[in-house]
Amino acid sequence: MIKVEALHKNFGKLHVLRGIDEHIEQGEVVVIIGPSGSGKSTFLRCLNLLEEPTAGKIWFDGVEITDKNEWKRGGLDAHRRDMGMVFQHFNLFPHMNVLENIVLSPVKVKGVPRAEAEETAKELLEQVGLMDKILAHPAQLSGGQKQRIAIVRALAMRPKVMLFDEPTSALDPEMVGEVLSVMKNLAGQGMTMAVVTHEMRFAREVGSRILFMDEGIIREQGTPEELFGNPQHARTREFLAKVT
Ligand code: ADP
Ligand code: MG
Repeated sequence: MIKVEALHKNFGKLHVLRGIDEHIEQGEVVVIIGPSGSGKSTFLRCLNLLEEPTAGKIWFDGVEITDKNEWKRGGLDAHRRDMGMVFQHFNLFPHMNVLENIVLSPVKVKGVPRAEAEETAKELLEQVGLMDKILAHPAQLSGGQKQRIAIVRALAMRPKVMLFDEPTSALDPEMVGEVLSVMKNLAGQGMTMAVVTHEMRFAREVGSRILFMDEGIIREQGTPEELFGNPQHARTREFLAKVT
């Protein structure tokens, strides 16, 4: 589904991603862990080209999305639509109610008929248990509810891949579970996911593969059993000792 080859990203003199080779297969849940500042967010943002890689190539669903000719053909927007992204802060539009937040992009960007977009929105709201909030405004929702709506909003575009960047880090502890449970269900439905998180229990239970990022490279990776049970690298052991 996604293939990354020799990916580098510089911000001026700061060399943040220092050569990443990686692939994500359809249906995989790849969990990315690692210290703050190691490049996890930059990596996710490069995957959907929110950041332009300094060097290297990325293929998505068979197409090289880092190819500038592909951009000229208008491919970039299409590929972005196929990758849903959920951030730490929910970025819901505050002046719109929940339904409007969800149907906006499908209708405006994808040209989905409004009635159909509303049907999809209702189905998804049902799945995350928030049908009763359909006409609420973001200010009337808890953090956990807002994040579940942000996930629904991304899913409403029917993406092929979902990228999550610390989706529970800004939440009060009692709301973390409801968001993780939505993500777990999504994984169970076969969604391809890349998830940056500090929730090690989620990583163990739901991750098909764990990547440990450190200083702009993937220092070590493996199944949850391998990475948590028998970490090979001293930096991995050091990190895990702090977070688990
Ligand atoms: P992580 O998500 O693992 O905490 P980030 O990818 O956010 O790490 O950041 C990696 C490094 O890149 C940090 O040193 C950060 O300050 C720097 N960085 C991230 N985004 C930018 C940017 N837009 N401009 C300059 N430096 C950035
Ligand atoms: Mg980050």
